[in-house]
Amino acid sequence: MQFNNVVGQHELIAKIITLVNNHHLPHALMLTGHEGSGGLPLALATAQFILCADKQATDSCGVCSSCTKMGKLQHPDIHFSFPTIKNRDKIPTSNDFIREFREFVSANPYGNDTDWLKFLESEKQGNITALECREIIQKLQLRSFESEYKILIMWYPEYLEKEGNILLKLIEEPTDKTLLFFVTSNAEEILPTIQSRTQLFSLKRLTDNEIKEALMERGVNEGKAIQYARIAEGDFHKALSLMSETENDFVNILRNWLNCLYANKGIELVEWVNGMADLNKEAQKKFLEYVIQLLEHMIRFKTIGSQNLVLLESEQKIIEVLIAKGMTDFFITEISDLLENSIYEIERNANTKILFHSLSLRIQKIVLRKNLALMS
Ligand SMILES: [Zn+2]
Repeated sequence: MQFNNVVGQHELIAKIITLVNNHHLPHALMLTGHEGSGGLPLALATAQFILCADKQATDSCGVCSSCTKMGKLQHPDIHFSFPTIKNRDKIPTSNDFIREFREFVSANPYGNDTDWLKFLESEKQGNITALECREIIQKLQLRSFESEYKILIMWYPEYLEKEGNILLKLIEEPTDKTLLFFVTSNAEEILPTIQSRTQLFSLKRLTDNEIKEALMERGVNEGKAIQYARIAEGDFHKALSLMSETENDFVNILRNWLNCLYANKGIELVEWVNGMADLNKEAQKKFLEYVIQLLEHMIRFKTIGSQNLVLLESEQKIIEVLIAKGMTDFFITEISDLLENSIYEIERNANTKILFHSLSLRIQKIVLRKNLALMS
């Protein structure tokens, strides 16, 4: 992650660069800002800048061996600490979940703790354990492997309970060339003993314009980028989820699915089912919920037209095609019931490959029945 990939926060980035270049960066930082302002991306970009072997004036180089390792979140001198969940009967530490964490952060640098715990498919509460705190102290006592500095990035230190006090001595008198970055969106929930020993760096709430531009860089057209930025209210995490849930993802998945079903394309359907089975449980459920919602909109669309309905152009097109193909309210209800039932089964850990295949065939049966009705 480079500063260049961080949305907004230009003043703070400039301040950090100056402090690093003058060797004045405090050794314990608390990066705080409200949800979706980008604390973790900023911590990652700062760490990458500090360790970069070929620093440029305003950013890390992005290509040296150190930057490449940071890009994969696999630099031996960067240590991550984050909320974990109970793993069988073992007391968990971040080490046990580091692979999942790399995968999650690479895909969602703006993700939050709720997303992370969902990603672990956990209903359990996250925690940063006392064992974890002791391991951090041990790890940071070692000399750095490749760089001048070793850096701890702790994401969501509010999950430290009293055990956080184990870290006080480390924060007060860290081992040589050690930096500690705490990243939080609720500074007031952090142990006051820790808070008072760190220097607060506040992230700004992102402006609508910053969010709009960042969305456009990710391929969203201007009209929608403005819409999402407005709804997101300074939260880039929210803006991204609006973007992925509405257009890029679900509309395309749905369009492909309908193509397979209506044109009776068996091989493509198997591919589609495999693609769905590869998504995590939450995304599978969200997609089905999205389709149910769109079907409800279809009923309203048929009675009142597009007025007062918030629909993307591509969604309206799908609705119009389905209506033209003879989708009646009765069929919509039947399909919605099947979708509801599938969500229920996914929650109960059904085999999703079988589930999506059988769901597709049942919906196809309804679709074909409708086509026959049209012909007679
Ligand atoms: Zn570099």
